[in-house]
Amino acid sequence: MNRPFDREARLSANVDAVRQRIDAAARRAGRQPEDVRLIGVTKYVDSSVATALVRAGCHDLGESRPQELWKKAEDLAALAPRWHFIGHLQRNKVRRTLPLVSLLHAGDSLRLLEEIHAWAEEQGRTVPVLLEVNISGDASKHGFSPAELEKSLDAVARLGGVAVRGLMAMSGLESDAEQTRREFSAVRLLRDRLRNVSPPELGWDELSMGMSGDFEAAIEEGATFVRVGSALFEGLEP
Ligand SMILES: *Cc1c(COP(=O)(O)O)cnc(C)c1O
Repeated sequence: MNRPFDREARLSANVDAVRQRIDAAARRAGRQPEDVRLIGVTKYVDSSVATALVRAGCHDLGESRPQELWKKAEDLAALAPRWHFIGHLQRNKVRRTLPLVSLLHAGDSLRLLEEIHAWAEEQGRTVPVLLEVNISGDASKHGFSPAELEKSLDAVARLGGVAVRGLMAMSGLESDAEQTRREFSAVRLLRDRLRNVSPPELGWDELSMGMSGDFEAAIEEGATFVRVGSALFEGLEP
């Protein structure tokens, strides 16, 4: 175990290094660095490391498992980070998870969106959601296929409790760097196309794509959120 001071210093250095790489990638693409937001994915670490990460300047945190989110949201309540839920959400976890979350990244089926809508109506609020698209076609991945997504737009637009803000995607498990870039580019082109054909209730400004191994390519292809885990925790002893 690192001493707490070493750990915070190391996390600060890692956050700074990742932010510099984000800024450089944005500039290469002629974009504003502040248009890309870093989400620190805390699924590999416990609440004390997540706390240190917020103190190191990363106020947007992501979790992919509901139980982990519930626990960390409670442990870190005093710091009030913005929580992003980035994994597959089972419908029976909607009620307990959504009150904690500022953006749900993985709206991956109409059934889930209907459940979210029902909860939101009951609460008299709307829930900001990204629609997950399975761009690589990997059978193991959740999400809409591009064709399914387009066919579902009218049904999604009728769910007044769900406020669609854009798309979320992951590169394929087997994809090399070139293929990964093609996938990110395909997500952006799909988004541009959906913007033109979708009902006006749906918003398309956000693209959540890019992880430790590929966030620079994702930014060059238009990502507005990158979800970075391991690169932020390099050099930390378990
Ligand atoms: C784990 C995870 C990440 C972060 O992965 P790293 O490669 O560690 O940066 C991003 N997005 C999702 C959906 C994840 O599950």
